[in-house]
Amino acid sequence: MKTDKRFAITDVAVIDGNGGRPVPDQAVIINGDRIEKVCPAEEIKGDAIEKISLPGKYVMPGLIDSHVHLMGVTDLKYWGMVEYSATLTHSYSQALRLLKYGFTSVRDISENGIYLKRAFNAPGATGPRIVACGRGLSRTGGHADITQLDDVAYAERNCMVSYYADGPDECRKAVRKIFRTGADQIKFWATGGGNNYIDRYTDIHYTEEEIRAICEEAKLIEGTKVLAHCERPELSKICIEAGVDSIEHCDGYAPFLCDLMKEHNVYLVPTMRLLVKWMEDITSDDFTAYLDETLPKFFQRDLLSNVDTVEEELEAVEEVKAAFLHAYENGIKIGVGSDTCFEGSTPFGWYGVLELECMQECGMPADQVIRSATKINSEILGLDEYLGTVKEGKIADLLIVSKDPTEDVRVFKDNEIIEYIYMGGELVVDHGRMLL
Ligand SMILES: [Zn+2]
Repeated sequence: MKTDKRFAITDVAVIDGNGGRPVPDQAVIINGDRIEKVCPAEEIKGDAIEKISLPGKYVMPGLIDSHVHLMGVTDLKYWGMVEYSATLTHSYSQALRLLKYGFTSVRDISENGIYLKRAFNAPGATGPRIVACGRGLSRTGGHADITQLDDVAYAERNCMVSYYADGPDECRKAVRKIFRTGADQIKFWATGGGNNYIDRYTDIHYTEEEIRAICEEAKLIEGTKVLAHCERPELSKICIEAGVDSIEHCDGYAPFLCDLMKEHNVYLVPTMRLLVKWMEDITSDDFTAYLDETLPKFFQRDLLSNVDTVEEELEAVEEVKAAFLHAYENGIKIGVGSDTCFEGSTPFGWYGVLELECMQECGMPADQVIRSATKINSEILGLDEYLGTVKEGKIADLLIVSKDPTEDVRVFKDNEIIEYIYMGGELVVDHGRMLL
């Protein structure tokens, strides 16, 4: 990715990633992999520097998705049941699709992300930057104990998103195992999430003692951020007090957490599309058939046991939207995370675009959604010193787009508006064509 080239993209409007409208008639000077300077185009008019003049276009920071699972499987029913090497191979093309949609960096929760991160960091390789969490911690029978097979060892071996850990000591050991694989951040599932018949999202999956052990152990390695899947506000409180850096999923937020989150500088990654449209997106025909076939095998509890009626579900959706709006209006820092995991129901890249759209539709102004996907997400990744804004000294991960997303983020639904993608000053996507 390294380049020694020095050139200027000029006569463009700059969207800096800090919110607000584009600044017209600018030039962005790129020197090697960095942004050397952002200035009025007029200033460099007489300079001998190589110029790429793109009047009418916008330069903005590459988008960041702070919650993806590069699991390399196409559908929930194959989760944990496909040969590990096959998922790893498939996850490579999923990562490239994220890049094609403008996501130049992602935070991934899966073992695949560890290997992809290394592969993409190699000289000459093309792919999004990956902040890798590796596997997260799930309790036995938790949200990420996916297959529910009797043979727990087999299930864990083939589950690329989690280690099973129960009790504070096992939690500490699991954190150490995850670091050993090369993880940058530590994820755990504090509550259920509705993956299977013993996994209601209202269920508490880790105790305060276990949560404290995870955070303490993670924080022994300086600079480590911890993210908690949490769908119950009262458990979010425990997570925040234990040292978690971001709460994943908006139903884990409630107004009473507002001051506490600000005090502890905790971010919210609401995954709005997933929560607001899950019935539409996830319960596809295929998935319904899977349920029909699977559920009769179980008693008492099932995947839909959180929801008694469609009316109740719709009511829950309204509560999530209200919580999101409260968080935004009261200054909680909100990131963009799609929870993309399966090609079938949550297509890579596209589902991130739908998350931008959903956040806008739920009341966040377009320029703030873009800020969430760039500046705020760079903080969530722990890389705000390097990424997230078009500013002197930052790494030149840039999109050149033909329409203004700060007016309406839905322009990204047309992939053709992304004319060029630069990573570290290098052109990697030219009008949808990946330059590998
Ligand atoms: Zn997730």
